[in-house]
Amino acid sequence: MIKRILVTGGAGFLGSHLCDRLVEAGQDVICVDNFFTSQKANVSHLLERPNFELVRHDVTHPLFLEVDEIYNLACPAAPGHYQYNPIKTIKTSVMGAINMLGLAKRVRARILHASTSEVYGDPDVHPQPESYRGNVNPIGPRACYDEGKRAAETLMFDYRRQNNVNIRVVRIFNTYGPRMHPYDGRVVSNFIRQALAGEDITIYGDGHQSRSFCYVDDLIDGLLKMMDGPDDFPGPVNLGNPDEFTIRELAERVVELTGSASSIVESRALPQDDPMHRQPDITLARRKLDWEPTIALREGLKRTIDWFGTIDMAAYRAPTPNY
Ligand code: NAD
Ligand code: UDP
Repeated sequence: MIKRILVTGGAGFLGSHLCDRLVEAGQDVICVDNFFTSQKANVSHLLERPNFELVRHDVTHPLFLEVDEIYNLACPAAPGHYQYNPIKTIKTSVMGAINMLGLAKRVRARILHASTSEVYGDPDVHPQPESYRGNVNPIGPRACYDEGKRAAETLMFDYRRQNNVNIRVVRIFNTYGPRMHPYDGRVVSNFIRQALAGEDITIYGDGHQSRSFCYVDDLIDGLLKMMDGPDDFPGPVNLGNPDEFTIRELAERVVELTGSASSIVESRALPQDDPMHRQPDITLARRKLDWEPTIALREGLKRTIDWFGTIDMAAYRAPTPNY
């Protein structure tokens, strides 16, 4: 049966790949976005498709539609983007979740919420299982995002308990791939852009901090499996690639794969509250969803580098001022 599926943040990096997959599957897709951190170009190839619709809308305002499923992805995700207007970021997480849960409740839609490994903060448990409650600074520069996402998880589970809304919560770990915003300041996009331009590769701190990088196609598989999974498994579930690398190793890998002459430099101190280590424990996703990533960092980076080589950097703008 064809489903009417709403994707908020659908023009963004992950959202646009999700829309691709849903349109290909023949679903009736409504993509909602205010283009704060994305470009229409991410979905322009879908505009001619009869089962795709693009709506400019800000999720902090109510939305009235009739849909069967909602993927709630709308939220700036890169630290530079979400710290640009922190009050708007937390409003987007919290009011966006309330509005989408209200919609899900009214039309009895199933709703999947994109949460984040940032709910674990700077973790003192490693790797992080879903049962770990996190180490988040509630008043630091990352709090607008971390606490906004934590509150959104709370809302999801309260709407489930109080109103029987059919929810899914996924905690996404660092994901990369084509259509990342080249100026989003995230580590993979920064390093690839810098390497291709022959600029210095900017490590923050000494580069010993670690992240575990998941290729976008694997992540989208996980989102789809979670949405289609059993109603008695609302999550939260970690989705990410458990292969962990230091930021210095990532820089070296990017230099090697691009053949760049760029130097790797320690350009600034580690930003405040920057997590030292991050690695998903995906035991639950393996068991409940039969999901695990299949694309290794080297292969994923090659594909991402190829894409960065094709884009016109001048077509990308920084986040909208006075947003
Ligand atoms: P992205 O910035 O490319 O996409 C977010 C999209 O949401 C953008 O298109 C943006 O314009 C839109 N948006 C922002 N505020 C909005 C608002 N108020 N109303 C409507 N649209 C709005 O980022 P992404 O990497 O694709 O992230 C998508 C989701 O996944 C986010 O919720 C993010 O927190 C989550 N996530 C991503 C990662 C990752 O590594 N990519 C990791 C953890 C969680
Ligand atoms: N980082 C870096 N150089 C950059 C951008 C980021 O060393 O040019 C570091 C950053 O300090 C963090 C890690 O890379 O330790 C991942 O940063 P990112 O912004 O991609 O995402 P995060 O996982 O911190 O949300």
